[in-house]
Amino acid sequence: MKPSHIEHIGIAVSNLEEAVSYYEQVLGLECYAVEEVKDQKVRTAFFRVGETKIELLESTEAEGPVGKFIDKRGQGVHHIAFAMEDTDQALKEAEAKGVQLIDKTSRKGAEGLKIGFLHPRSTFGVLTEFCSPIHPCEVVVSFITFNFHEAYLSIFQADHSNAGCRIGCTHLWV
Ligand code: ZN
Repeated sequence: MKPSHIEHIGIAVSNLEEAVSYYEQVLGLECYAVEEVKDQKVRTAFFRVGETKIELLESTEAEGPVGKFIDKRGQGVHHIAFAMEDTDQALKEAEAKGVQLIDKTSRKGAEGLKIGFLHPRSTFGVLTEFCSPIHPCEVVVSFITFNFHEAYLSIFQADHSNAGCRIGCTHLWV
């Protein structure tokens, strides 16, 4: 496992609009998306800085994880997210190396990414997120389901190993 880059840095803020205005007016960055992630009880705003993004997080409920974080530690850096090839695989490898996980398997995060968290207890105090795009073949599978006969789908799924799958994708796209 090796992250390709820092995908984003999550920053907990009390007021999303005020924080967005700072990043736009002072740093000159452009907020390209505001999205609510119900699962995590947050509203998020995103900025691109080169390959990395800033993800501002405002709690939508006092009892949400970001609400509790701000109560305890105030506003500030909340987590660092590493871009991995496959979140589930990376979580498995981390667990095998003795890291305590918050998520045993990935879930859907902002921007449709597959995300999973490691516990800060095992990561020197930094809440660590892994994220990866939805596997290319999952995108292809939904494309096929939508466009072609179901039979294609069952044949395709029968070979859902990583390598086999990629080959399958290539054939199907060609
Ligand atoms: Zn994040």
